[in-house]
Amino acid sequence: MPDHIIEPELTWTGPPGEERFERNVRIAVENGRISEVGALSDEPTHRLPRTAILPGFVNTHSHAFQRGLRGRGETFPEEAGDFWSWREEMYRLVKSMDEQRIYELSRQTFSEMLDAGITAVGEFHYLHHSPGTGDFALDKVVLRAAADAGIRIVLLNVLYRAGGLGPEGHTPLSDAQQRFAAPSVDAFWEQMDRLAEVVAQGAGAPGLCGGGGLSSLGVAAHSIRAVPLDELIAFSEEAARRGMPLHMHVEEQPREVEDALHHYGRTPMGLLNAHLRISPLFTAVHCTHTSTADLDDYLSAGGNICICPLTEANLGDGLANVPWMLRHDGRVCLGSDSNSRIDMAEEMRWLEYGQRLATLSRGVCVNRASRGAGHVAERLLHAATIAGARAIGLRTGAIRPGFLADLVALDLDHPPLAGADAETLLPAFLCGSDGGAVAGTFVNGTWREKMHRTRRSLSPRSMSPRSMTGG
Ligand SMILES: [Zn+2]
Repeated sequence: MPDHIIEPELTWTGPPGEERFERNVRIAVENGRISEVGALSDEPTHRLPRTAILPGFVNTHSHAFQRGLRGRGETFPEEAGDFWSWREEMYRLVKSMDEQRIYELSRQTFSEMLDAGITAVGEFHYLHHSPGTGDFALDKVVLRAAADAGIRIVLLNVLYRAGGLGPEGHTPLSDAQQRFAAPSVDAFWEQMDRLAEVVAQGAGAPGLCGGGGLSSLGVAAHSIRAVPLDELIAFSEEAARRGMPLHMHVEEQPREVEDALHHYGRTPMGLLNAHLRISPLFTAVHCTHTSTADLDDYLSAGGNICICPLTEANLGDGLANVPWMLRHDGRVCLGSDSNSRIDMAEEMRWLEYGQRLATLSRGVCVNRASRGAGHVAERLLHAATIAGARAIGLRTGAIRPGFLADLVALDLDHPPLAGADAETLLPAFLCGSDGGAVAGTFVNGTWREKMHRTRRSLSPRSMSPRSMTGG
């Protein structure tokens, strides 16, 4: 017997590559997974008139605490700012934060993600320690914040070993970076073993850290700047042995490419291709300045690339060669990264719009890709769902039996969607609307109404006896 039967007005369904919005579809959910999709005879437990259901969005790359920088770092000295001056601002934020503040910021960030239709996040987490300690206490704090917000999380715990990469090799960590450090690679894996216990304990008990089975673990190497190559090789072998996703910042800034060329005689991506076993469990984040030859080697080995359009724009990183990346089907996913804005519709839109501006053409994310033609909105949705799920090792991102019951409901009465029909709704959402269209989400089959809507429904004006009984 299903636990829930969901009945929206429109459901995004169909075989892979041929999905579209259909009417008269019900979704059955059992033990947090979709068990059946179709014209089911069971009575609905969740009737959602005037909504359209999509797979929940997967945010492949986030640093939740950086939400604390929103609105800061936007005042510039005469010489203007760049990524490195932003990083100084971020380090100042790190210094000011204790456990409570990290919890609050992370919880706020994860709630905003749910409000924007993001049901799963890959949290690239490197702020490990309470001030003045090496206690790794903040790893659990972030898991607890995600559990309390109700989002599915893959904690991509980050190995951070060096301050930077100079001509003579890696430099020691600066004061500001001490809270990111692992004393050794072995000590890092011991912390991963402790976290595995925390996640396992929480799996059957909502409210505990890691609660409700919504948490799992992966790892990340911060960057070629922060992890020496010999350690990175051993680290990636251990991650593969454990079957864990491994993520890494790669070539976000030209300086990183120059530093690696100077010290190693190869680009960062060239080093990864030459020394690591690249597989679908590996995700390179950004690749803004990666050469086409390096991209070909990396993508043909099965690696994923996570693009973070809004953050890359905010930080002035540059524009990645997305058309080239998309020649390798389905390898590009999306992340909200610095969380200066949390909106997957905008991330999808700017994955395409950035390329339109750069190439003076339209439909770049389909026309330059291997299929040669098609609907750009489907392609963008693929990046925000199934491609992201693959990168963080989750079976979510599609409305099919066996997939996790992580879904997003769009409000068809949201004014920017007025006039859209089943054919035009997805492009109308991606080009003309934003997370404001999200009515709520299902995570593991549990419905969560959007935060600001819940507040609105509690306003005195709507406190009629009918609404008070929950009608
Ligand atoms: Zn990042």
